[in-house]
Amino acid sequence: MSGPVSDETGEVDATADAAPRVVTGRETEVGGMPIARVLPTKGARTVGPWCFVDLMGPEDGLVPDPMEVGPHPHTGLHTVTWLLEGEALHRDSLGTVQPLRPGQLNLMTAGGGISHSELGTSGERFAGVQLWVAQPEATRHDEPAFEHHGELPQVEGDGVRATVLVGELLDGRSPARADTPMVGADVTLEGGLTSLPLDPAFEHAVVPLRGELVVDGTPAPRGAIALLAPGRDELPLDALEDGSRFLLLGGAPFGERVQMWWNFVGRSREELESSWRDWADRHDRFGSIDGPMERIEAPLPPWLRTG
Ligand code: MN
Repeated sequence: MSGPVSDETGEVDATADAAPRVVTGRETEVGGMPIARVLPTKGARTVGPWCFVDLMGPEDGLVPDPMEVGPHPHTGLHTVTWLLEGEALHRDSLGTVQPLRPGQLNLMTAGGGISHSELGTSGERFAGVQLWVAQPEATRHDEPAFEHHGELPQVEGDGVRATVLVGELLDGRSPARADTPMVGADVTLEGGLTSLPLDPAFEHAVVPLRGELVVDGTPAPRGAIALLAPGRDELPLDALEDGSRFLLLGGAPFGERVQMWWNFVGRSREELESSWRDWADRHDRFGSIDGPMERIEAPLPPWLRTG
């Protein structure tokens, strides 16, 4: 499940306000699937190392056609794939063939280069989230890798249940790879007021998935992201209905100047351009994938377009 980024993105713009800043995402489409893209967004390129968040599928999970995203490359990031409904099949250039169902996590590390494809295999019900995590300088040129986690920690607090995808929440710690300090969790609330403990060293985001949710006094609808600056040790939440569900994402402010274009994460335009050229030239760094799906060609980078 790729999420091509159409615009070259710039510098990190940290939020400094105490109140959550709620920003509406952008409607788009990937592989025949309606998408709400909530990160990157206006004024926030990253939340900790999280650099990309797509909600895949319509809110009711009913889709006319299965998702189909042919072989495409990545660099310098982890893809974190988490399904809410349905089933998908992941293939990559390491030779991985891995079905994915709700409750399971696929975490693919691109390092210096990988390619993968994704196919919805569940007919008319499909929904999930596609997340990207920027790799730090220390690991971003390393070998690619893939992890599947069939079981993840389930934690409970006061009126709160959560699955810990990455990092730690309450008394749960995920076995998933994290190259920098970060957290990712799928949280479900009983109705009413509660709060979640946060690491004050982290900046955070709340990404609503289902139900009415108020984040520290500010309503946050599905299709939006609520951005929270570092320095908080708890997050007040008000679920206006039982079963309100959201993703909690966070991490230490990334501290490296990330640039993204299409499916590539790098540090400069020159680097993105060389990744683009290598994919067009079928360079070995991206490997190849067995299977019938057609590879996705990269568009021309906008800075190379004339007229
Ligand atoms: Mn992808």
